[in-house]
Amino acid sequence: MADANPFETLINDLAKEIYSGKIGPHQIPAELSLRIGNHLNSALNEAIPPLKFGYTDPENRLAAKLRANIYSFAAAKSLEEMKKYNQLLLDNDGKVKPFKQYRDDCTKAGLVFNIGHLKTEREFALASAQTAVEWQQYNESEILQWSTIEDEKTCPICGPLDGVAYPKNNGFWKKISPPVHFHCRCRIIPAKETNEALMPAHKSIKDNKIPPYCQNNAGVTEVIFDNNYPMMNNLQKSDLSFDRTYNMPTAEHIYSTNEFKPAPEPSSPEQAYIDWHNMAKDAGEFDIKDLNGTSIHFDQEFYDKLLKKRTEGRWKMIPAFEEILKNPDEVWFFKGRIVSEQAENTAYIKYYKDEPYMIIANYDRATTAYPVDLKKLDAKRRGILMHRK
Ligand SMILES: [Zn+2]
Repeated sequence: MADANPFETLINDLAKEIYSGKIGPHQIPAELSLRIGNHLNSALNEAIPPLKFGYTDPENRLAAKLRANIYSFAAAKSLEEMKKYNQLLLDNDGKVKPFKQYRDDCTKAGLVFNIGHLKTEREFALASAQTAVEWQQYNESEILQWSTIEDEKTCPICGPLDGVAYPKNNGFWKKISPPVHFHCRCRIIPAKETNEALMPAHKSIKDNKIPPYCQNNAGVTEVIFDNNYPMMNNLQKSDLSFDRTYNMPTAEHIYSTNEFKPAPEPSSPEQAYIDWHNMAKDAGEFDIKDLNGTSIHFDQEFYDKLLKKRTEGRWKMIPAFEEILKNPDEVWFFKGRIVSEQAENTAYIKYYKDEPYMIIANYDRATTAYPVDLKKLDAKRRGILMHRK
C-alpha cells in the first residue's frame, strides 16, 4: 500500500501504541517530534544555509538558537497532538471506540496536524528565520522599510504597512515586524529615507488584533515560536526526560541490546595532545561542524580547563570529538545546571563500546566534554530531544 504521506504510517503506529497503553497521554512520541522538528528545520536551513557560515559569523549562533527553538516547538506540538489522540479514544457516549475506528479518527486528525498545520508552521518558521537573519545583517543606524508582496497588498494588516520605513533602532520594529500573521510573506528591506506609518504600531496591533506571538521580532529575540505561541505552554509544566516524557529505554538497556564500536583512542596522552595541536594550529582553537552544520568552537580555555589535567583522562576523547558532534546517537537541548543555572546547553551523546562520551555546547561553543558513567547517563538525557539515531 502506498504511503501518501510520511506521517500516515507514523500516526497508524502511534494509534496502536496509545490504544494498547504503551504510550501515555502526557508523553512525547520521539519519532513524531523529531519528524516535525526536521521538517521545520529544513525551513531554517533554507533561510540560513548552515554550511555557508562559520563560527565567527553571527549567523552560526543565530541558527543554533533558532534550531533549539524549532525542536522545542516540535515537542510542544507533539504534546498537543497526544491530547487530541487521547480524546479520540472515547466515542460520544464515553465508550472506548473499536480500534479500527479509533485509528481512522487518529489518521484524520493527524493529517490535519501534520500536513495542513505543519505547512503553515513551516512558512511561519521560514519567514521568521528570514527576518531574523536579515535583521542581524543590517547596521543599527540603517533605515529599513516594510515591503509587502503584490498579492498581500490588499491584506488589512500588511497592506497599510507597505513602504513604512524607520531606522533599525526605532522602537517600531520591536513592536511589529514580519511575519505578522500566518502566510505573511512581507520582508524588511533597506531604504533611503524614513517614511512614517500613518498608523502607530500599537494602534495597528490593536485594530488588526495581531496576536502576541506575531508581535515577535525574531531578529531581536532569536526565537521563532515564542512563549505566546499556541501550544508552547505545553512545555512549561514539567521537566522533560528520556523515559517519563519520551518513553525511551534506559542507557543500560540500550547497551544490553546493542553492540557499539570502540571509541577512537589515542595511543598515549602525548598523541592526544598532538592531535589537539594539529587541529588547533597556531591560533590555539578550532571548529567542528555538528550534524546540523553548526560550527562548534573549541578554544584554549576549553583545553586548559578540561584536557590539560592528565589525571582526569578526558584527553582520550580528543580523537572522537568530530564523530561525537557529526554523528551522535542522541542530542538533547536543556537549560541550566551544567555551566551556570541560566546556560542553554546542547548535549551530544555518542555510545561507544566501553562507555558513552558526551560533549556539551552552549549553542556554538563547546563548554565541556567527558566520558559518562553508564549509570549516570540517564540523568543527562533530559530536555528537548533534537536527534536520535
Ligand atoms: Zn505580510
